[in-house]
Amino acid sequence: MIIYGTGSTKVKEEAIFNKCNSCGNINTTTAYVFAKYVDIFWIPIFPIGKYASTQCSHCKQVLQEKEMPPDLKQTVMPFKNISKTPLKAFSGLFVIALLIVGGGIMAAMAGKDTEQYAATPAVGDRYYYKEDDGSFSTMKIMELSSDSIFFFLNGYTIDKKSKTRTIDITKNYDTTEYYGYSKQEINNMLKDKTVFQIKR
Ligand SMILES: [Zn+2]
Repeated sequence: MIIYGTGSTKVKEEAIFNKCNSCGNINTTTAYVFAKYVDIFWIPIFPIGKYASTQCSHCKQVLQEKEMPPDLKQTVMPFKNISKTPLKAFSGLFVIALLIVGGGIMAAMAGKDTEQYAATPAVGDRYYYKEDDGSFSTMKIMELSSDSIFFFLNGYTIDKKSKTRTIDITKNYDTTEYYGYSKQEINNMLKDKTVFQIKR
């Protein structure tokens, strides 16, 4: 479950010249500007605008923008317009951007490893591949010859590619029989991404 909502943070506070329309005191009014943002799990994700309000320090009357008399509104609006939305209101976007960049770097690194392992196959390497029915499984190199690679097959499949490593455990490999592929066949499987990752 994703818990989302909106929050706000104060971005400006300014004493203004005004006669309170409730208690009649002069110079007791403070204007506030708030930045409003959407949050997910209480982390601000992106800003959705600003709003202003005033409070009289004497009678405590609070006025929202739409309740302000025109002259008060005219005094307050410039403060609203010049106050900047703080970076805090975007912090979720920074986190998301970092995750995307970080994920991209990790995927690129995994791809590099796979390329390197494919070029230098070794006994024990595990090949992660896509089955014809769309599920995913793995096979482990048992033996190499000059033109073929022999594998123990994993007895399990999984329907989520990203979870393939969870079935890559020693006891899942059936070591009572093995299958051989020519290196050319393996190269084709790597090229068309049937084999999508190699672990060592
Ligand atoms: Zn007042």
